[in-house]
Amino acid sequence: MKLILLLSIVAIASVHSWTLDYAGAKQISSPHFNRGRQGQAITCLVLHGTAGGGTIEWFQNPTSKVSAHYVVGQDGSVTQMVSEDDTAWHNGVVTTNSQFYGRPNPNLWCIGIEFSRNIQNNNVMPEVQIQAGIRLVADIKRRYKGINIHTHDQFSVGRTCPGPNFPLARFKNA
Ligand SMILES: [Zn+2]
Repeated sequence: MKLILLLSIVAIASVHSWTLDYAGAKQISSPHFNRGRQGQAITCLVLHGTAGGGTIEWFQNPTSKVSAHYVVGQDGSVTQMVSEDDTAWHNGVVTTNSQFYGRPNPNLWCIGIEFSRNIQNNNVMPEVQIQAGIRLVADIKRRYKGINIHTHDQFSVGRTCPGPNFPLARFKNA
């Protein structure tokens, strides 16, 4: 009973209510974020590919310590897990050979979108997923004029993210 009470208090203490930034998303919160952006302006959108399913559950799993603002499923569903006002944990490792090395932590100035892919991160993404991603990217571009679109492997060079067959040009043209 005491343990249950304690867990309830911890749960209440960690609640941070926030509103959706994208009307086409459903809201499922991840605990993996930092409040605010430490004064950094949002100038970058980072696209990721997640190998395999279970992305939403993984971003909620306390052992993962990762998250993104959005998850786009292969069925075209869009889930927002972190407020754009807050710093998600998707792009924090910058390799020394990246053009972004030496700048502040990219999580502070980027919005992150995860596209659920197959386990090899190399499938041809379903058209319904691509279309959902295009609508989301277009909405973000409308709200952040001039935002730059990058892929995770431009920061963490050598990583297979978002992986082969990723329709980057279509998102850039969204
Ligand atoms: Zn990634």
